[in-house]
Amino acid sequence: MTTNATGNGAHAAETNVEEVIIIGSGPAGFTAGLYTARANLKPLLLTGNEYGGQVSLTYDIENYPGFPESLSGPDLVERMKAQAEKFGTRVEFDYVSEIVVDQHPFIVRTSGGQEYKAKSLILSTGASPRYLQIPGEKEFTGKGVSYCATCDGFFFRGKDVLVIGGGDSAVEEALFLTKFASRVRVIHRRDKLRAGKLLQERLFANAKIEMVWNTVLTEVVGADGSVVGVKTLDTVTGAEGYLETDGIFVFVGHLPNNTLMQGKLALDEDGHLIVDKKMRTNIPGVFAAGEIMDKVYKQVATSVGQGCSAAMQATRFLEEMEAEGMPSLEADPRELVYA
Ligand code: NAP
Repeated sequence: MTTNATGNGAHAAETNVEEVIIIGSGPAGFTAGLYTARANLKPLLLTGNEYGGQVSLTYDIENYPGFPESLSGPDLVERMKAQAEKFGTRVEFDYVSEIVVDQHPFIVRTSGGQEYKAKSLILSTGASPRYLQIPGEKEFTGKGVSYCATCDGFFFRGKDVLVIGGGDSAVEEALFLTKFASRVRVIHRRDKLRAGKLLQERLFANAKIEMVWNTVLTEVVGADGSVVGVKTLDTVTGAEGYLETDGIFVFVGHLPNNTLMQGKLALDEDGHLIVDKKMRTNIPGVFAAGEIMDKVYKQVATSVGQGCSAAMQATRFLEEMEAEGMPSLEADPRELVYA
């Protein structure tokens, strides 16, 4: 396959240039793989270190259409991978350490020592858990502090745990933890949950769960290498307190995985990639899908839709490029509006 790169003024015959490289292996990435494979683009999908992304840490998915009996996150990821591979997606378990997007073909370098060239990129690197950033949190991560109930809940059989946060994740994971823990206290910084009503109803109906309102943690306290309690602050009265516990599960939102993009692509004030309604970033040929660009919906179903849109737009871009040549790599001045 040869490419004429005109955007940066150069004309170079390139060999081994991928049509499309997809970075990230969550629902957005695998859907982009499925659609670009079916468009005969032979996509290369680089998984990153967290194969499957956040959904692979989810015990039970009840709201992904087509599975009324619900299914586990890892199960869904395996099905998506199998479907993408069936049509020709090549999945490589490697971590992308650098992208170069100011020249075309773009360059993708991995920690496994590979260097790839690509005519188009679909970035679907997702998001990672936000930390509380309080003393003791880092020190006791894996020793009582966890960000994944599915992974670690089992170790708290018959124990007391705290869940931090008031969103869907905190409530869903608190409910899951009642399978193991003897008591689950949900600590929320306000007096109203952000979580959806159905989850709230289940939470309030569960006898093992207690709410601790208007409270934040100020320190994780440990002894002999494991968590024994937390220091707290009442957000209304300012009173300091202490709660004994065996484990702390933190679900206070997520941050976009944008390390690769910083200084290279337009990001919003929260660090999400800015894209237009066609999933285009400010560099022609670079598309994005999933939680790296979406801070509003953040559902498996929406990530799948965004992955599909990004794939269709990448396909169109490649067709237009074949016909008309590569557009300028100058940042596109059009309004970037996905929100
Ligand atoms: P989220 O909706 O952003 O909620 C984060 C929660 O953490 C909020 O309640 C927030 O409090 C609290 N918080 C943030 N920073 C904090 C801090 N430093 N200290 C204490 N509390 C803090 O995040 P999420 O629950 O992970 O959900 C993310 C997205 O995924 C949402 O769109 C959600 O709907 C979706 N999701 C859906 C499902 C489902 O449909 N079953 C399951 C999981 C997640 P405030 O409320 O005061 O801001």
